[in-house]
Amino acid sequence: MGKTFDIGLESLTAGPLPANRRSALAMPSGPAVRGTFFLETFGCQMNDHDSEKVAGVLMSRGYRQVESADTAGLILYNTCSIREKAAQKVFSRLGEYRTKQAQGQVIGVLGCVAQQEGEDIFERAPWVSLVCGSASYSKLPELLAQVEAGNQRVTGLETDTDATFETEMTRRDNPWRAYLTIIEGCDKACSYCVVPYTRGPERSRASNSILREVRQVAELGYSEVQLLGQTVNSYADPTSRKMRFSELLLAVADEPGIRRVRFTTSHPKDFTQHIVDAMDAQPKLCNHVHLPAQSGSTRVLRAMQRTYTREEYLEKIAMIRGARRPISITTDIIVGFPGETEADLAETLSLLDDVKYDAIFAFKYSPRPHTPSLSMNDAIPEEEKSRRLALLQEKQREIQMERHAGFIGMAFEVLVSTKSRKENHWSGHTTCHRVINFTSQETALLGKYVQVRVTGMTPNSLVGEHA
Ligand code: SF4
Repeated sequence: MGKTFDIGLESLTAGPLPANRRSALAMPSGPAVRGTFFLETFGCQMNDHDSEKVAGVLMSRGYRQVESADTAGLILYNTCSIREKAAQKVFSRLGEYRTKQAQGQVIGVLGCVAQQEGEDIFERAPWVSLVCGSASYSKLPELLAQVEAGNQRVTGLETDTDATFETEMTRRDNPWRAYLTIIEGCDKACSYCVVPYTRGPERSRASNSILREVRQVAELGYSEVQLLGQTVNSYADPTSRKMRFSELLLAVADEPGIRRVRFTTSHPKDFTQHIVDAMDAQPKLCNHVHLPAQSGSTRVLRAMQRTYTREEYLEKIAMIRGARRPISITTDIIVGFPGETEADLAETLSLLDDVKYDAIFAFKYSPRPHTPSLSMNDAIPEEEKSRRLALLQEKQREIQMERHAGFIGMAFEVLVSTKSRKENHWSGHTTCHRVINFTSQETALLGKYVQVRVTGMTPNSLVGEHA
C-alpha cells in the first residue's frame, strides 16, 4: 500500500502502488482515460524519489495513477543517463510508444535523458510532448498546464535555478521507508559524470523544511527515513540555523517515531569526523556508509577529478572503522576508465582487500555526453573492460563470502519488508543494510522490527530464522 504525504494539508492514503512500476508493457490494454497517468522510473534512488514527488504533483492536480500505459492519458518516463545502456533503453522504450500520440495519449520524458538530449528528443521521437529535466521539476505544474492546453512541445530544461523540488504532496512507494531529498544537483566535477550537467548546481533544502517533512512522515507511520543527495554529506543549510550535516542527522533521529536514519550518497572529500561522532552518539543512525571510491589508483582518481588520493580515501575508511560500533561500508567502482593500466587495476583490487567492503557496485566505464572524459581516448576494448569487471566481482564475492560466514550464529534486528510466496518465508534489511531472508511462524510481520538469527548465507544475502 502506497502512502500519500501531504504537507500542510490533511494526510491521505493512496491506492495500491503499481507493482510493476519498473516493468513496462506487460499490462492489460484498454481505452486511454483522460486524467490518468502512468509513470515508469529508471535509475537511482534520487530518481525513484523524484517520481514519488512527480506522482504527488499529478495527484494533487486531480490525476489518478494507473498501472497500464495503454490506459493512461499521460505517459511519463523518468529517465537515467548515468550509463550509456540506460539512456539507450529510454529511446527503445519511447519507440514502443510511437502510436500513442495518435490515440490521444500524451507522452513526456523527465529526468537525466530529458536534460541531456533536450529538444532533440522531439526530433528523435516526435510523438513526445513534454521534456523536463529534474532541475525544473518545481515548474512541473505550469508545464503540465501547457500540455493540457494542447501545446505539442513543452520543455523545462533550465539548470541555473536555485529551486529545490519541494511538493505539496508526495506519493510514496514504500510504506515503511521514506526517502527525503535534502540536497539536489552537484558542484563536484568528476570527469566521467553527467550529473552536474543534468541535475545542475548544488541546492540544499532548508533544515526546518526537512524536519517538518520528517515529522509528517513519522506521523504517517514511517519509521525509517533515508536522506538523499548526489553528495548528501555536502549539505549546507541555507537558513540562519546553518545546521551541519551531522547535526541534521541527529535532529532527524530525534523526531518521535523515527527508528532508523540512512543517508546516501556520501562524497569522501566531505566525509568528516562529525558524522562518525553523530553515529557513535545516536544508535538510530544506521550502521552503514556508502562511500564511492571509483578507483584504488591515485593516478586514475586524478584523471577522474575525484579530488582525493587513495591514501586520503583510506584515511576516511579508517575514520569510519574507528567508530565505537561496526559500520558496514559499501562503494562504487568504475573499471576501464581511459588510460587505466593493469597496475591501476591491481591497485583497485588491493583496495578491496584493504577495505573489505560489505558490498560493491561495479560498472564498466562508458563515455557520456557533456562530460570532460568524453575527449579522452577510450581505448580499452569492451571485452577487456568486461574481464576487469569480472576480476573485481570475483574478488568481492570471496570477500563477501568470508564476511557473511562470520555472521552465522549472530542475531540482527530486521525491518521486515517482503513476504515471500513460500509459506513462512520473509525478508528485510538489517541496520547495516544487509538483506536477510528468514523463516517465521508468525503471520503478520510486514513493517515490523524483529530479531533474526543467521543460520546460513550466500554471497549477497544472509539466511536466518526469527529469533
Ligand atoms: S560527486 Fe562526482 S560522481 Fe557524484 S554526482 Fe557529483 S560529479 Fe557525479
